[in-house]
Amino acid sequence: MGFFDTKIEFLKGVGPQRADLFHTELAIFTYADLIQHYPFRHEDRTRFYKINEVNESMPFVQIRGKADYFETVGEGHKARLVAYLVDSTGEIELVWFKGVQWFSKNLKRHTEYIVFGKPQFFGGKYSIVHPEMEVYNPGEPQEGGLQPVYNLTEKLRKKQIESKTIGKMIRQVLDMGCPHLRETLPEPIIGQYSLLPKRDAIENIHFPKNHPLLEQATFRLKFEELFYNQIRLLKNKLVRRVEYHGQVFKSVPTLTTFYNEHLPFDLTNAQKRVIREIYRDMCSGRQMNRLLQGDVGSGKTIVAFICMLMAIDNGAQGCMMAPTEILADQHYTGLKEFADQLGIGIGILKGSSKVSERRVLHEKLESGEMKIIVGTHALLEDVVKFQNLGLCVIDEQHRFGVAQRAKLWQKNEEVYPHVLVMTATPIPRTLAMTLYGDLDVSVIDELPAGRKPIKTVHRYDAHRLRVFGFLREQVQQGRQIYIVYPLIEESEKMDYKNLMDGYESIARAFPECQLSIVHGKMKPQDKDFEMKRFLKRETQIMVATTVIEVGVNVPNASVMVIENAERFGLSQLHQLRGRVGRGADQSYCVLMTDYKLSKEARQRIDTMVSTNNGFEIADMDLKLRGPGDIEGTQQSGVLDLLIADLSKDALILQDARRSAQELLENDPELVSPQNGPIRRHIESLRKEETNWSRIS
Ligand code: ADP
Ligand code: MG
Repeated sequence: MGFFDTKIEFLKGVGPQRADLFHTELAIFTYADLIQHYPFRHEDRTRFYKINEVNESMPFVQIRGKADYFETVGEGHKARLVAYLVDSTGEIELVWFKGVQWFSKNLKRHTEYIVFGKPQFFGGKYSIVHPEMEVYNPGEPQEGGLQPVYNLTEKLRKKQIESKTIGKMIRQVLDMGCPHLRETLPEPIIGQYSLLPKRDAIENIHFPKNHPLLEQATFRLKFEELFYNQIRLLKNKLVRRVEYHGQVFKSVPTLTTFYNEHLPFDLTNAQKRVIREIYRDMCSGRQMNRLLQGDVGSGKTIVAFICMLMAIDNGAQGCMMAPTEILADQHYTGLKEFADQLGIGIGILKGSSKVSERRVLHEKLESGEMKIIVGTHALLEDVVKFQNLGLCVIDEQHRFGVAQRAKLWQKNEEVYPHVLVMTATPIPRTLAMTLYGDLDVSVIDELPAGRKPIKTVHRYDAHRLRVFGFLREQVQQGRQIYIVYPLIEESEKMDYKNLMDGYESIARAFPECQLSIVHGKMKPQDKDFEMKRFLKRETQIMVATTVIEVGVNVPNASVMVIENAERFGLSQLHQLRGRVGRGADQSYCVLMTDYKLSKEARQRIDTMVSTNNGFEIADMDLKLRGPGDIEGTQQSGVLDLLIADLSKDALILQDARRSAQELLENDPELVSPQNGPIRRHIESLRKEETNWSRIS
């Protein structure tokens, strides 16, 4: 056990009770946890500002002055204390809403104070609310420099644990522990990127001597964190490549028949390239672990089917797992169309499947009679056994965890199946590198020929009549229209009401049209019925909630109207828009909102209007929301980053990945003495974790 494994209980001033708080509130147990509790910003105590220099744009300022005059303003619980702080240049108000009595008793006149806080401009005057106050004592050394500010919780604050408390604890650890703090990166990398040594970085991330050192410390620690994230992923990939065999799927008779006789359209060049990449993997004798990225409508289904044929042609089976029943249904429908032409047995297994159906499916899978199975999580159950599972296609939409992916592997104990992970929503590069950095990547970056880019416009609710006029023209030209309403659990009642009101007003405005309506409260068979009517062109307008986001493919639909567009996330808007533009006609997406829009909502709408590129949209989504909010990334665990921020640190990530790659190419087993720090650091990280190399 090293010095940094010491429990924080052993620090001065930290008894069992405080330690307990640190465990439960901040998950800090050891010295190591403590020094990795990095401050999220620093307060600038490097200088005193003159009162006439203060302005509202300053984050926190330090001023020196006297408050000879103060008064209580207002009465009862509205009472506040206002002190007028004066220096040689001017006056600023200090305001307390809490502790009014205490401060009015204890504030000293004719005494110079150091005052610290955030200036505001309010009612024509500058003021600081609840400033930190300290009597100025010229004899005493001042707490200067950049002071760390740490994340705290309400509970910690109540127990008088503040940034300063944490700072002092860390100071203690660093004073004792500096000799024990070992370098975690190899010399050449430190040299190449001019990184601060680990010790200096840790010292300066908490107690920076100046701004440039703080920046260098931050850079070094971000680099290190991303570097290890990449080393781990790339190392797993390497281990798998060396150790895990894959079935060889060389022969292609049915695939050839399919190509020659049933292919409904010419594949795009991107589709062909991706299929070649996959075929190469399937013939390599190694297990494939590949990520297939492609925008909505880029034609991933047929690629998945063709890969399944490769497995089937060689006596193996394929499965496709989707995160929701609706998606599973959609995939099943898509694949069945092709499978039926070739007489290939295909089935679907969902949580809602009947026991009797399941039994039949289970038998057919185990006997090998059924070649393709589509389903939800239900596929993971132990009772689902295969004669010879050769390929798992996982439609992720980043919703499955790594552990679940690993579970599918176990369905073939002799040779792990090949794995193809598909994502419908493009993921920003940085996220893909960290979430899926251990997979090979294929991208379908081309839409099928003849598709015109969708025109997207933003219209205010007040102009609804004009929008209706446009819709009428489209219907007269034989087109069909989606009108989508938001439906969010928290406001479900209101949302259903809006949907119904909307439906009625549309019915009134378009008496000549047949309408479909689809929402989550309907029975599956009713939904199905309505969708089919729309598909068969018996209805012209489909009014729906987001259930159609993934549900249908109607090439004749050319307009997507999204009501209350400001309430949707970017990737959801993009998904919805992807429902149109599937035919040869010009398609449109109309984003309806109120005049009043938040800044972020406006940015989302502007992004949608300005680009059709899913990757650009994903990048913007990441910028606006931050990685933690992107669906599904939280539970993946890969993104528990302490200091790096994927929405800002793309360049550092690129460097870190390149270094990790080069390093592993030269020294895959990390045996060279120079890479000793890496080996040791990985071992210490491993102790806390599961065996990552076995999890795809
Ligand atoms: P996604 O990538 O969103 O899953 P799909 O696989 O559902 O896309 O394909 C969208 C539509 O495009 C489907 O109707 C499909 O039949 C059609 N499609 C796929 N590839 C091509 C192609 N190469 N040429 C023309 N149409 C295609
Ligand atoms: Mg699809």
